[in-house]
Amino acid sequence: MVLSNFHTHSNFSDGSTEPSAYAAEALRQNLGSLGFSDHSPLPFPNTFALKEEETNTYCQTVQQLKEQYREKGLDIYLGLETDYIHGIGLPLAWFREHLPLDYQIGSVHLVSNHTSDLLWFIDGPDPATYDDGLMQLFGGNIRKGVTAYYNQINEMITAGSLDVVGHLDKIKMHNRGRFFSEEEAWYLKLIDETLHLIKNTGVIVEVNTRGIYKKRSDTLFPGPALLQKIKNLGIPVMLSSDAHRPEELIRLFPETTKLLASIGFRETYILTPRGWNAHPLNN
Ligand SMILES: [Zn+2]
Ligand SMILES: [Zn+2]
Repeated sequence: MVLSNFHTHSNFSDGSTEPSAYAAEALRQNLGSLGFSDHSPLPFPNTFALKEEETNTYCQTVQQLKEQYREKGLDIYLGLETDYIHGIGLPLAWFREHLPLDYQIGSVHLVSNHTSDLLWFIDGPDPATYDDGLMQLFGGNIRKGVTAYYNQINEMITAGSLDVVGHLDKIKMHNRGRFFSEEEAWYLKLIDETLHLIKNTGVIVEVNTRGIYKKRSDTLFPGPALLQKIKNLGIPVMLSSDAHRPEELIRLFPETTKLLASIGFRETYILTPRGWNAHPLNN
């Protein structure tokens, strides 16, 4: 399999170091392609997103690396992991039109309840943040909160301008069987609605290994049951590590490739100079 990773955070957002260190490590680990996807700028103070005034420097830095590494056999791509929040921030189409992006991952980390200015932060290392947000915005009603999460994902997919939907079921990360089972009928109904929307729009689903290697999730994003549905629907997938450090670039890729093959996948999608192409899993 051609080694590649298209979900990478440098210190332009919440990654550990400068983009050049990731490029050097990608070359050392024999990757054929590397995509940078720092978090899109947000219109409120935060510690993890790209700063608006540094956006052009980010684009220029990645484009310089692209030139520098092309002759060394590493294709570098400029991307963004754009945060989709209901009613807040620039639309994905804005980033597509105003920045020289090669691709865009759309993700939901902050969920709106449509009435309050507060947002439910469903990511990060601390389950207490998840629990507090669920209580404040949804009165502790997990079904309401999870429904708002998937509705926000559906809204993002419908809005368009994304190539890939990032860590689709990240909402389960701080659940771990505490609030709901992923086999409950209401949860499966939400999943089915979102997957049919994805199928109809042709968006790629990311298979993200980060939850497992950070020991925050027992399963991939999306988990095996969801991946089986994705396979059955013929939805394209892309394997990625959501690296925040150079050494994480292809973390758990051999194990995950095997798992995908056991589910029945024969290919994953990779960005090439001609666009997204299917690549055989075991080649
Ligand atoms: Zn993310
Ligand atoms: Zn990410």
